[in-house]
Amino acid sequence: MRTAREAVMNGLAPDGGLYVPCEIPVLPESFWKSLNERSVHEIGFEIAHAYLSEDVPRAVLETIVQETLSFPIPLVPLTDWLSVLELFHGPTLAFKDVGARFTARLMGYFVANTDRELTILVATSGDTGSAVANGFYGVPGIRVVILYPSGRVSALQEKQMTTLGGNISALEVDGSFDDCQRMVKEAFMDADLQKTFQLTSANSINIARLIPQMFYHAWARAQSPSSARGEGWGGEGGITMAVPSGNFGNLTAGLMVKRMGMPVDRFIAATNMNDVVPEYLETGLFSPRASIATISNAMDVGNPSNFVRMQWLFQNNVEAMRKEMVGMRVSEEETKQTMKEVFDEHTYVLDPHAAVAYTAMKRFLDSDNSGSSGIIFATAHPAKFASVVEETLQTTVALPVELQACLEKESHSTKVSPRLDALKSWLFSR
Ligand SMILES: *Cc1c(COP(=O)(O)O)cnc(C)c1O
Repeated sequence: MRTAREAVMNGLAPDGGLYVPCEIPVLPESFWKSLNERSVHEIGFEIAHAYLSEDVPRAVLETIVQETLSFPIPLVPLTDWLSVLELFHGPTLAFKDVGARFTARLMGYFVANTDRELTILVATSGDTGSAVANGFYGVPGIRVVILYPSGRVSALQEKQMTTLGGNISALEVDGSFDDCQRMVKEAFMDADLQKTFQLTSANSINIARLIPQMFYHAWARAQSPSSARGEGWGGEGGITMAVPSGNFGNLTAGLMVKRMGMPVDRFIAATNMNDVVPEYLETGLFSPRASIATISNAMDVGNPSNFVRMQWLFQNNVEAMRKEMVGMRVSEEETKQTMKEVFDEHTYVLDPHAAVAYTAMKRFLDSDNSGSSGIIFATAHPAKFASVVEETLQTTVALPVELQACLEKESHSTKVSPRLDALKSWLFSR
Protein backbone atom coordinates (compact mmCIF):
# COMPACT_ATOMS: atom_id res chain seq x y z
CA MET A 1 0.00 0.00 0.00
CA ARG A 2 1.22 3.48 -0.89
CA THR A 3 0.44 6.69 0.91
CA ALA A 4 -1.61 9.47 -0.62
CA ARG A 5 1.52 11.59 -0.46
CA GLU A 6 3.43 9.18 -2.67
CA ALA A 7 0.57 8.94 -5.16
CA VAL A 8 0.37 12.71 -5.45
CA MET A 9 4.10 13.27 -5.71
CA ASN A 10 4.67 10.46 -8.23
CA GLY A 11 1.69 11.25 -10.43
CA LEU A 12 2.02 7.95 -12.26
CA ALA A 13 2.64 4.62 -10.49
CA PRO A 14 6.02 2.95 -11.07
CA ASP A 15 4.35 0.30 -13.26
CA GLY A 16 2.89 3.02 -15.47
CA GLY A 17 -0.66 2.62 -14.10
CA LEU A 18 -2.92 5.22 -12.48
CA TYR A 19 -3.32 5.48 -8.73
CA VAL A 20 -6.73 4.79 -7.14
CA PRO A 21 -7.70 4.84 -3.45
CA CYS A 22 -7.55 1.44 -1.68
CA GLU A 23 -11.18 2.00 -0.83
CA ILE A 24 -13.66 4.79 -1.24
CA PRO A 25 -14.63 6.31 2.11
CA VAL A 26 -18.36 6.68 2.76
CA LEU A 27 -19.48 9.84 4.57
CA PRO A 28 -22.32 9.53 7.12
CA GLU A 29 -25.91 10.00 6.02
CA SER A 30 -26.21 12.95 8.39
CA PHE A 31 -23.59 14.78 6.30
CA TRP A 32 -25.46 14.24 3.04
CA LYS A 33 -28.83 15.08 4.60
CA SER A 34 -27.53 18.42 5.87
CA LEU A 35 -25.67 19.33 2.69
CA ASN A 36 -27.72 22.43 2.00
CA GLU A 37 -26.87 23.88 5.41
CA ARG A 38 -23.14 23.70 4.75
CA SER A 39 -20.71 26.05 3.05
CA VAL A 40 -18.69 25.03 0.02
CA HIS A 41 -15.58 25.08 2.23
CA GLU A 42 -17.09 22.73 4.81
CA ILE A 43 -18.21 20.33 2.09
CA GLY A 44 -14.80 20.44 0.41
CA PHE A 45 -13.00 19.88 3.68
CA GLU A 46 -15.09 16.84 4.68
CA ILE A 47 -14.49 15.19 1.31
CA ALA A 48 -10.75 15.96 1.20
CA HIS A 49 -10.28 14.90 4.84
CA ALA A 50 -11.79 11.49 4.07
CA TYR A 51 -8.93 10.83 1.63
CA LEU A 52 -6.04 12.76 3.18
CA SER A 53 -6.48 12.59 6.96
CA GLU A 54 -3.34 10.48 7.38
CA ASP A 55 -1.15 12.71 5.24
CA VAL A 56 -2.28 16.27 5.92
CA PRO A 57 -3.10 17.86 9.31
CA ARG A 58 -6.60 19.23 9.70
CA ALA A 59 -5.69 22.92 9.87
CA VAL A 60 -3.44 22.68 6.80
CA LEU A 61 -6.14 20.92 4.81
CA GLU A 62 -8.69 23.56 5.82
CA THR A 63 -6.44 26.28 4.42
CA ILE A 64 -5.77 24.33 1.22
CA VAL A 65 -9.51 23.90 0.64
CA GLN A 66 -10.22 27.58 1.37
CA GLU A 67 -7.53 28.78 -1.00
CA THR A 68 -8.66 26.35 -3.70
CA LEU A 69 -12.28 27.50 -3.57
CA SER A 70 -11.56 31.22 -3.67
CA PHE A 71 -14.18 32.02 -6.34
CA PRO A 72 -17.92 31.36 -6.59
CA ILE A 73 -19.34 28.20 -8.23
CA PRO A 74 -23.01 29.12 -8.56
CA LEU A 75 -25.83 26.85 -9.67
CA VAL A 76 -27.88 28.97 -12.07
CA PRO A 77 -31.45 27.80 -12.79
CA LEU A 78 -32.55 28.10 -16.43
CA THR A 79 -35.92 26.37 -16.02
CA ASP A 80 -37.66 24.70 -13.09
CA TRP A 81 -35.93 21.43 -13.82
CA LEU A 82 -32.67 22.40 -15.43
CA SER A 83 -29.74 24.30 -13.88
CA VAL A 84 -26.22 25.17 -14.95
CA LEU A 85 -23.29 24.76 -12.57
CA GLU A 86 -20.90 27.57 -13.56
CA LEU A 87 -17.42 26.20 -13.00
CA PHE A 88 -15.68 28.99 -14.90
CA HIS A 89 -15.26 31.85 -12.44
CA GLY A 90 -11.68 30.93 -11.52
CA PRO A 91 -8.58 32.83 -12.67
CA THR A 92 -8.25 31.06 -16.05
CA LEU A 93 -12.00 30.71 -16.67
CA ALA A 94 -12.22 26.91 -16.74
CA PHE A 95 -13.03 24.21 -14.19
CA LYS A 96 -9.41 23.04 -14.39
CA ASP A 97 -8.56 25.90 -12.01
CA VAL A 98 -10.11 23.93 -9.14
CA GLY A 99 -7.93 20.87 -9.70
CA ALA A 100 -4.78 22.89 -10.38
CA ARG A 101 -5.14 25.14 -7.32
CA PHE A 102 -5.69 22.17 -4.99
CA THR A 103 -2.86 20.09 -6.47
CA ALA A 104 -0.46 23.04 -6.24
CA ARG A 105 -1.18 23.69 -2.58
CA LEU A 106 -1.11 20.01 -1.66
CA MET A 107 2.24 19.51 -3.39
CA GLY A 108 3.43 22.75 -1.78
CA TYR A 109 2.67 21.28 1.65
CA PHE A 110 4.40 17.99 0.80
CA VAL A 111 7.63 19.72 -0.30
CA ALA A 112 7.61 22.30 2.51
CA ASN A 113 9.65 20.22 4.95
CA THR A 114 12.02 18.74 2.39
CA ASP A 115 15.12 20.62 1.27
CA ARG A 116 14.66 19.80 -2.39
CA GLU A 117 12.83 22.04 -4.80
CA LEU A 118 10.16 20.35 -6.89
CA THR A 119 10.17 21.01 -10.62
CA ILE A 120 6.93 20.48 -12.49
CA LEU A 121 7.13 19.94 -16.22
CA VAL A 122 3.92 20.42 -18.18
CA ALA A 123 3.33 20.02 -21.89
CA THR A 124 0.22 21.87 -22.97
CA SER A 125 -1.90 22.67 -25.95
CA GLY A 126 -3.20 25.70 -24.03
CA ASP A 127 -5.77 25.14 -21.30
CA THR A 128 -3.90 22.92 -18.86
CA GLY A 129 -0.82 25.16 -19.03
CA SER A 130 -2.71 28.29 -18.09
CA ALA A 131 -4.56 26.62 -15.20
CA VAL A 132 -1.36 25.03 -13.88
CA ALA A 133 0.63 28.29 -14.24
CA ASN A 134 -2.00 30.17 -12.30
CA GLY A 135 -2.55 27.47 -9.69
CA PHE A 136 1.15 27.03 -8.86
CA TYR A 137 2.10 30.72 -9.07
CA GLY A 138 3.86 31.80 -5.91
CA VAL A 139 3.79 28.35 -4.21
CA PRO A 140 7.10 28.11 -2.28
CA GLY A 141 9.39 25.20 -3.05
CA ILE A 142 7.91 24.54 -6.47
CA ARG A 143 8.80 25.81 -9.86
CA VAL A 144 6.88 25.15 -13.02
CA VAL A 145 8.19 24.84 -16.54
CA ILE A 146 5.55 24.92 -19.26
CA LEU A 147 6.23 23.72 -22.78
CA TYR A 148 3.81 24.96 -25.41
CA PRO A 149 3.87 24.71 -29.21
CA SER A 150 4.86 27.94 -30.93
CA GLY A 151 2.01 29.60 -32.82
CA ARG A 152 -0.55 26.96 -31.83
CA VAL A 153 -2.05 28.39 -28.66
CA SER A 154 -4.42 31.34 -28.54
CA ALA A 155 -3.10 34.82 -27.73
CA LEU A 156 -4.96 34.78 -24.42
CA GLN A 157 -3.63 31.36 -23.45
CA GLU A 158 -0.08 32.45 -24.28
CA LYS A 159 -0.45 35.58 -22.16
CA GLN A 160 -1.80 33.53 -19.25
CA MET A 161 1.28 31.29 -19.32
CA THR A 162 3.99 33.85 -20.05
CA THR A 163 3.14 36.95 -18.02
CA LEU A 164 3.25 35.64 -14.45
CA GLY A 165 7.01 35.29 -14.02
CA GLY A 166 8.24 34.33 -10.53
CA ASN A 167 8.30 30.54 -10.20
CA ILE A 168 6.57 30.04 -13.57
CA SER A 169 8.67 29.74 -16.73
CA ALA A 170 7.39 29.18 -20.23
CA LEU A 171 9.23 27.57 -23.11
CA GLU A 172 7.94 28.21 -26.59
CA VAL A 173 8.76 25.03 -28.46
CA ASP A 174 9.41 25.30 -32.15
CA GLY A 175 7.24 22.27 -32.89
CA SER A 176 3.86 20.64 -32.18
CA PHE A 177 2.06 19.68 -28.96
CA ASP A 178 3.25 16.12 -29.55
CA ASP A 179 6.85 17.37 -29.55
CA CYS A 180 6.24 19.11 -26.21
CA GLN A 181 4.75 15.94 -24.75
CA ARG A 182 7.62 13.80 -26.01
CA MET A 183 10.22 16.18 -24.56
CA VAL A 184 8.54 16.00 -21.14
CA LYS A 185 8.37 12.20 -21.24
CA GLU A 186 12.03 11.98 -22.25
CA ALA A 187 12.99 14.38 -19.47
CA PHE A 188 11.34 12.12 -16.87
CA MET A 189 13.50 9.23 -18.06
CA ASP A 190 16.76 11.16 -18.34
CA ALA A 191 19.41 10.10 -15.81
CA ASP A 192 21.20 13.51 -15.61
CA LEU A 193 17.97 15.32 -14.92
CA GLN A 194 16.84 12.69 -12.40
CA LYS A 195 20.06 13.23 -10.45
CA THR A 196 19.82 17.00 -10.32
CA PHE A 197 16.11 17.74 -10.14
CA GLN A 198 13.05 16.36 -8.41
CA LEU A 199 10.71 16.24 -11.38
CA THR A 200 6.98 15.56 -11.49
CA SER A 201 3.93 16.32 -13.58
CA ALA A 202 0.60 17.94 -12.78
CA ASN A 203 -1.66 16.67 -15.53
CA SER A 204 -5.05 15.02 -15.22
CA ILE A 205 -3.77 11.56 -14.42
CA ASN A 206 -2.68 12.81 -10.98
CA ILE A 207 -5.15 11.57 -8.36
CA ALA A 208 -4.79 14.93 -6.54
CA ARG A 209 -6.91 16.56 -9.22
CA LEU A 210 -9.86 14.22 -8.71
CA ILE A 211 -10.31 15.03 -5.02
CA PRO A 212 -11.28 18.72 -5.44
CA GLN A 213 -13.41 17.82 -8.44
CA MET A 214 -15.68 15.95 -6.03
CA PHE A 215 -16.23 19.15 -4.03
CA TYR A 216 -18.36 20.81 -6.64
CA HIS A 217 -20.47 17.79 -7.49
CA ALA A 218 -21.55 17.88 -3.84
CA TRP A 219 -21.76 21.67 -3.85
CA ALA A 220 -24.11 21.49 -6.86
CA ARG A 221 -26.25 19.04 -4.91
CA ALA A 222 -26.20 21.36 -1.89
CA GLN A 223 -27.49 24.27 -3.97
CA SER A 224 -30.31 22.26 -5.57
CA PRO A 225 -33.80 23.43 -4.65
CA SER A 226 -35.57 20.98 -2.38
CA SER A 227 -38.51 20.45 -4.67
CA ALA A 228 -38.90 21.42 -8.26
CA ARG A 229 -40.19 18.65 -10.40
CA GLY A 230 -42.28 15.99 -8.71
CA GLU A 231 -40.38 14.30 -5.93
CA GLY A 232 -37.10 14.77 -7.71
CA TRP A 233 -34.98 17.22 -5.79
CA GLY A 234 -33.87 16.47 -2.31
CA GLY A 235 -35.31 12.96 -2.20
CA GLU A 236 -33.32 9.85 -2.91
CA GLY A 237 -31.62 11.24 -5.97
CA GLY A 238 -33.98 12.36 -8.67
CA ILE A 239 -31.10 14.31 -10.14
CA THR A 240 -29.15 13.71 -13.31
CA MET A 241 -25.82 15.44 -13.87
CA ALA A 242 -24.48 15.96 -17.40
CA VAL A 243 -20.70 16.22 -17.59
CA PRO A 244 -19.00 17.37 -20.82
CA SER A 245 -16.10 14.94 -21.03
CA GLY A 246 -12.72 14.43 -22.65
CA ASN A 247 -10.32 12.59 -20.37
CA PHE A 248 -13.19 11.78 -18.00
CA GLY A 249 -11.54 13.14 -14.85
CA ASN A 250 -14.61 15.17 -13.95
CA LEU A 251 -16.99 12.28 -14.47
CA THR A 252 -14.77 9.84 -12.55
CA ALA A 253 -14.79 12.28 -9.61
CA GLY A 254 -18.59 12.35 -9.84
CA LEU A 255 -18.84 8.57 -9.73
CA MET A 256 -16.50 8.50 -6.74
CA VAL A 257 -18.45 11.08 -4.73
CA LYS A 258 -21.62 9.12 -5.49
CA ARG A 259 -19.94 6.10 -3.86
CA MET A 260 -19.20 8.33 -0.89
CA GLY A 261 -22.96 8.63 -0.48
CA MET A 262 -23.95 11.71 -2.50
CA PRO A 263 -27.54 11.31 -3.68
CA VAL A 264 -27.69 11.50 -7.48
CA ASP A 265 -29.58 9.29 -9.90
CA ARG A 266 -27.17 9.11 -12.77
CA PHE A 267 -24.51 10.84 -14.83
CA ILE A 268 -24.62 11.60 -18.50
CA ALA A 269 -21.26 11.10 -20.19
CA ALA A 270 -21.64 13.85 -22.78
CA THR A 271 -19.06 13.89 -25.55
CA ASN A 272 -18.55 15.54 -28.91
CA MET A 273 -17.85 13.22 -31.84
CA ASN A 274 -14.88 11.80 -29.92
CA ASP A 275 -17.28 9.23 -28.56
CA VAL A 276 -15.36 6.16 -27.41
CA VAL A 277 -17.10 6.11 -24.03
CA PRO A 278 -20.70 6.46 -25.33
CA GLU A 279 -19.78 3.75 -27.82
CA TYR A 280 -18.50 1.54 -25.01
CA LEU A 281 -21.75 2.01 -23.09
CA GLU A 282 -23.73 0.99 -26.18
CA THR A 283 -21.65 -1.92 -27.41
CA GLY A 284 -19.47 -3.02 -24.50
CA LEU A 285 -16.40 -2.55 -26.70
CA PHE A 286 -13.73 0.04 -25.97
CA SER A 287 -11.83 1.10 -29.07
CA PRO A 288 -9.54 4.07 -28.50
CA ARG A 289 -8.52 5.94 -31.63
CA ALA A 290 -6.96 9.19 -32.84
CA SER A 291 -8.97 12.26 -31.86
CA ILE A 292 -10.88 14.44 -34.29
CA ALA A 293 -10.92 18.23 -34.11
CA THR A 294 -14.17 19.89 -32.95
CA ILE A 295 -15.33 23.29 -31.64
CA SER A 296 -15.36 21.86 -28.10
CA ASN A 297 -11.66 21.18 -28.46
CA ALA A 298 -10.80 20.60 -24.79
CA MET A 299 -12.81 17.38 -25.22
CA ASP A 300 -11.03 16.16 -28.33
CA VAL A 301 -9.67 13.01 -26.73
CA GLY A 302 -9.59 9.66 -28.50
CA ASN A 303 -8.17 7.59 -25.65
CA PRO A 304 -9.47 8.98 -22.34
CA SER A 305 -6.90 8.54 -19.60
CA ASN A 306 -9.45 8.06 -16.80
CA PHE A 307 -11.30 5.24 -18.55
CA VAL A 308 -9.22 2.74 -16.58
CA ARG A 309 -10.39 4.35 -13.34
CA MET A 310 -14.02 3.99 -14.45
CA GLN A 311 -13.34 0.34 -15.27
CA TRP A 312 -11.93 -0.08 -11.77
CA LEU A 313 -15.05 1.51 -10.23
CA PHE A 314 -17.33 -0.94 -12.07
CA GLN A 315 -14.94 -3.90 -12.10
CA ASN A 316 -14.99 -4.01 -15.89
CA ASN A 317 -18.73 -4.65 -15.88
CA VAL A 318 -20.49 -2.63 -18.56
CA GLU A 319 -23.91 -3.63 -17.21
CA ALA A 320 -23.07 -2.12 -13.85
CA MET A 321 -21.77 1.03 -15.52
CA ARG A 322 -24.99 1.42 -17.50
CA LYS A 323 -26.99 1.59 -14.26
CA GLU A 324 -25.21 4.79 -13.26
CA MET A 325 -24.21 6.35 -16.57
CA VAL A 326 -25.82 7.22 -19.88
CA GLY A 327 -23.56 7.97 -22.85
CA MET A 328 -24.47 10.64 -25.40
CA ARG A 329 -22.55 11.93 -28.39
CA VAL A 330 -23.35 15.36 -29.76
CA SER A 331 -22.57 16.61 -33.27
CA GLU A 332 -21.10 19.99 -34.16
CA GLU A 333 -24.39 21.05 -35.74
CA GLU A 334 -26.39 20.15 -32.62
CA THR A 335 -23.88 21.96 -30.41
CA LYS A 336 -24.29 25.21 -32.35
CA GLN A 337 -28.07 24.76 -32.56
CA THR A 338 -28.23 24.43 -28.77
CA MET A 339 -26.10 27.53 -28.26
CA LYS A 340 -28.56 29.48 -30.41
CA GLU A 341 -31.69 28.06 -28.77
CA VAL A 342 -30.48 28.67 -25.24
CA PHE A 343 -29.43 32.21 -26.14
CA ASP A 344 -32.81 32.93 -27.76
CA GLU A 345 -34.92 31.35 -25.02
CA HIS A 346 -32.99 32.28 -21.90
CA THR A 347 -30.54 35.01 -23.03
CA TYR A 348 -27.90 32.71 -21.61
CA VAL A 349 -24.58 32.19 -23.37
CA LEU A 350 -23.19 28.64 -23.33
CA ASP A 351 -19.65 27.90 -24.42
CA PRO A 352 -19.35 24.93 -26.86
CA HIS A 353 -18.38 22.47 -24.08
CA ALA A 354 -21.36 23.33 -21.89
CA ALA A 355 -23.55 23.23 -25.01
CA VAL A 356 -22.57 19.59 -25.54
CA ALA A 357 -23.74 18.78 -22.00
CA TYR A 358 -26.94 20.79 -22.45
CA THR A 359 -27.82 19.00 -25.68
CA ALA A 360 -27.26 15.62 -24.06
CA MET A 361 -29.34 16.59 -21.01
CA LYS A 362 -32.21 17.83 -23.12
CA ARG A 363 -32.22 14.62 -25.14
CA PHE A 364 -32.24 12.63 -21.92
CA LEU A 365 -35.02 14.62 -20.20
CA ASP A 366 -37.20 14.49 -23.35
CA SER A 367 -37.20 10.70 -23.21
CA ASP A 368 -37.30 10.33 -19.44
CA ASN A 369 -40.51 9.99 -17.47
CA SER A 370 -39.08 9.52 -14.00
CA GLY A 371 -39.42 13.23 -13.18
CA SER A 372 -35.68 13.69 -12.96
CA SER A 373 -34.19 17.17 -12.74
CA GLY A 374 -30.96 18.08 -14.47
CA ILE A 375 -27.72 19.85 -13.64
CA ILE A 376 -25.33 20.55 -16.48
CA PHE A 377 -21.68 21.40 -15.91
CA ALA A 378 -20.46 24.55 -17.66
CA THR A 379 -16.73 23.90 -17.77
CA ALA A 380 -15.49 27.04 -19.54
CA HIS A 381 -16.41 30.72 -19.76
CA PRO A 382 -17.82 31.63 -23.19
CA ALA A 383 -15.16 34.36 -23.52
CA LYS A 384 -12.58 31.61 -23.63
CA PHE A 385 -14.06 30.40 -26.89
CA ALA A 386 -15.11 33.84 -28.10
CA SER A 387 -14.67 33.33 -31.83
CA VAL A 388 -16.98 30.28 -32.05
CA VAL A 389 -19.49 31.83 -29.67
CA GLU A 390 -19.56 35.18 -31.47
CA GLU A 391 -19.87 33.58 -34.88
CA THR A 392 -22.66 31.24 -33.76
CA LEU A 393 -24.68 33.77 -31.78
CA GLN A 394 -23.89 36.89 -33.79
CA THR A 395 -23.19 38.74 -30.58
CA THR A 396 -20.09 39.88 -28.74
CA VAL A 397 -18.81 38.30 -25.54
CA ALA A 398 -16.83 40.45 -23.16
CA LEU A 399 -13.64 39.23 -21.55
CA PRO A 400 -13.72 39.59 -17.74
CA VAL A 401 -11.61 42.55 -16.58
CA GLU A 402 -8.89 40.46 -14.92
CA LEU A 403 -8.13 38.86 -18.25
CA GLN A 404 -8.15 42.09 -20.16
CA ALA A 405 -5.44 43.25 -17.79
CA CYS A 406 -3.47 40.08 -18.52
CA LEU A 407 -3.55 40.81 -22.26
CA GLU A 408 -1.72 44.07 -21.65
CA LYS A 409 1.11 42.54 -19.62
CA GLU A 410 4.47 41.77 -21.11
CA SER A 411 5.21 38.17 -22.16
CA HIS A 412 8.38 36.36 -21.15
CA SER A 413 9.20 33.07 -22.79
CA THR A 414 12.22 31.37 -24.25
CA LYS A 415 12.15 29.82 -27.69
CA VAL A 416 13.63 26.34 -27.79
CA SER A 417 14.03 23.76 -30.50
CA PRO A 418 11.90 20.61 -30.14
CA ARG A 419 14.65 18.43 -28.63
CA LEU A 420 15.42 17.10 -25.16
CA ASP A 421 18.91 18.66 -25.41
CA ALA A 422 17.39 22.10 -25.66
CA LEU A 423 15.19 21.53 -22.61
CA LYS A 424 18.11 20.09 -20.67
CA SER A 425 20.49 22.92 -21.34
CA TRP A 426 17.79 25.41 -20.43
CA LEU A 427 17.11 23.63 -17.13
CA PHE A 428 20.82 23.40 -16.26
CA SER A 429 21.44 27.04 -17.10
CA ARG A 430 19.00 28.24 -14.45
C1 LIG B 1 -10.57 19.69 -19.82
C2 LIG B 1 -11.93 20.17 -20.22
C3 LIG B 1 -13.04 19.29 -20.36
C4 LIG B 1 -12.89 17.79 -20.20
O1 LIG B 1 -12.75 17.41 -18.87
P1 LIG B 1 -12.30 15.91 -18.48
O2 LIG B 1 -12.24 15.90 -17.00
O3 LIG B 1 -10.96 15.70 -19.13
O4 LIG B 1 -13.32 14.98 -19.03
C5 LIG B 1 -14.28 19.82 -20.66
N1 LIG B 1 -14.44 21.14 -20.85
C6 LIG B 1 -13.42 22.02 -20.75
C7 LIG B 1 -13.67 23.46 -21.01
C8 LIG B 1 -12.12 21.58 -20.42
O5 LIG B 1 -11.11 22.45 -20.33
